[in-house]
Amino acid sequence: MPEEILYKSTRGKGDAVHSQEAILRGLADDGGLFVPERIPALSIDLDELPSLSYRETAFRVMRDYLMDFTEEELRTAIAAAYDEKFDDERIAPLVRPDSKGPAYLELFHGKTIAFKDMALSILPHFMTIAARKRGLDSKILILTATSGDTGKAALSGFADVPGTEIIVFFPKDGVSEVQRLQMVTEKGKNTHVVSVNGNFDDCQSGVKKIFSDPALRAEMEGCGYQFSSANSINIGRLVPQIVYYVYAYGQMCKLNCIKAGEKINFAVPTGNFGNILAGYYARSMGLPVNKLICASNENKVLFDFLNTGVYDRNRKFLLTHSPSMDILISSNLERLIYKIEDEDPIKTASLMKELSEKGRYQVTSEILERAEGIRGYFASETECFGKIKSLYKETDYIIDTHTAVAAAALDKYLSETKDDTPTVIVSTASPYKFADSVVSAIDPSKHFEGSEGYIDALRSLGAPEIPDAIKEIREAKIVHGENCDPSEMGITVKKVLGIIAN
Ligand SMILES: *Cc1c(COP(=O)(O)O)cnc(C)c1O
Repeated sequence: MPEEILYKSTRGKGDAVHSQEAILRGLADDGGLFVPERIPALSIDLDELPSLSYRETAFRVMRDYLMDFTEEELRTAIAAAYDEKFDDERIAPLVRPDSKGPAYLELFHGKTIAFKDMALSILPHFMTIAARKRGLDSKILILTATSGDTGKAALSGFADVPGTEIIVFFPKDGVSEVQRLQMVTEKGKNTHVVSVNGNFDDCQSGVKKIFSDPALRAEMEGCGYQFSSANSINIGRLVPQIVYYVYAYGQMCKLNCIKAGEKINFAVPTGNFGNILAGYYARSMGLPVNKLICASNENKVLFDFLNTGVYDRNRKFLLTHSPSMDILISSNLERLIYKIEDEDPIKTASLMKELSEKGRYQVTSEILERAEGIRGYFASETECFGKIKSLYKETDYIIDTHTAVAAAALDKYLSETKDDTPTVIVSTASPYKFADSVVSAIDPSKHFEGSEGYIDALRSLGAPEIPDAIKEIREAKIVHGENCDPSEMGITVKKVLGIIAN
């Protein structure tokens, strides 16, 4: 048995902790992110991989990271997470609409039809196992900022889970109509949904501030609550995301796109850098990956950083048709920075301090070179719409606006590099979730009031059957109407929990 992997803060304070504690806490006390002390080597033989189910792949990958869970605990959590909630038994099917083009890894077959389900279906199981084993007697209070998709996936994962309470903050005008309806109609008795008069960065900063407020934390502990996070800063989300990169590789072999051992590329629509970071970890484990193409929308901070070494959030926050990627402070980038800065927590902490004080930091070109395997590209709104339309015309395959950012960014990468490595585009949402944008991209002459007409129009264009997640919101009642300013998020937490009067 290899030695247990512990998790330490990217900012260096505090002891390294077991995976269960890292999952329960979400964020380290010094504001840093938990990272594994070492990356385990992939313990699956590449020749065997194509024959493994999603669940078996998940078990083999996760056991090497989450070593304080027993085999039985992991298998039970995996079986409960990746079950009939997914409308495709492959869980993460790989499809190739055009035999000459890239493959698409569809990560939207879960309950809320976006890739956040891949991790948020299992995170509540990890948390309840960890809480029970550690004899935690307080309630776990999940605070989550969402750019649209994490919110519903977390609500749905934690709904009515005993011993938990969840509050989701979303930017009032920054989510799609379907995303908003999915959240405000959530029925779970332990769920709370609050719209914030600000953008996603305001929501995320507000949550981080609550986490690192010792007085508030103590007060909440006194009331029987322990904070945790369902955002992608939680290592309990990152680890399950590594699984689908490994699984996709096996499926590429199975579809005869590659032979075991050959390298592939992944193009990843990126916002908070959580998804692509999991791909980076998969490669560090030894999965044969050549390039990771980090695709941004017009909020292209990551493109600029990866091409110049300057991270600068001092710019206009744009609302795009890929709202889940409308982010200027990419939290998980801190984990990459830590890695390329030679795992130096003092350096990492000082760069993050610059980011919070000046909104900007810079790394040297030698440091940036270490991230060479991650290539930054971006797609404009026009390019993204153009891609949805051309792919539909050529293949009848319909992609959502986020996936389109990756597909369009990949086109730019390919025309620049002529790289002929077989490529997987990570497809992060069902087109139904952004039906109005997708229909407008394919046929701009179509106009409807509200999302209903667009959903039917999408079906008429030949999209697969309307998913249950969409049918549900058509009938559901709106049950959440809380709203606050970014500065009031701490107080709002106490209000919605009934700790102080409304
Ligand atoms: C969250 C999300 C992304 C971005 O993923 P990150 O982990 O934040 O980089 C992309 N597409 C969709 C549909 C999402 O919900």
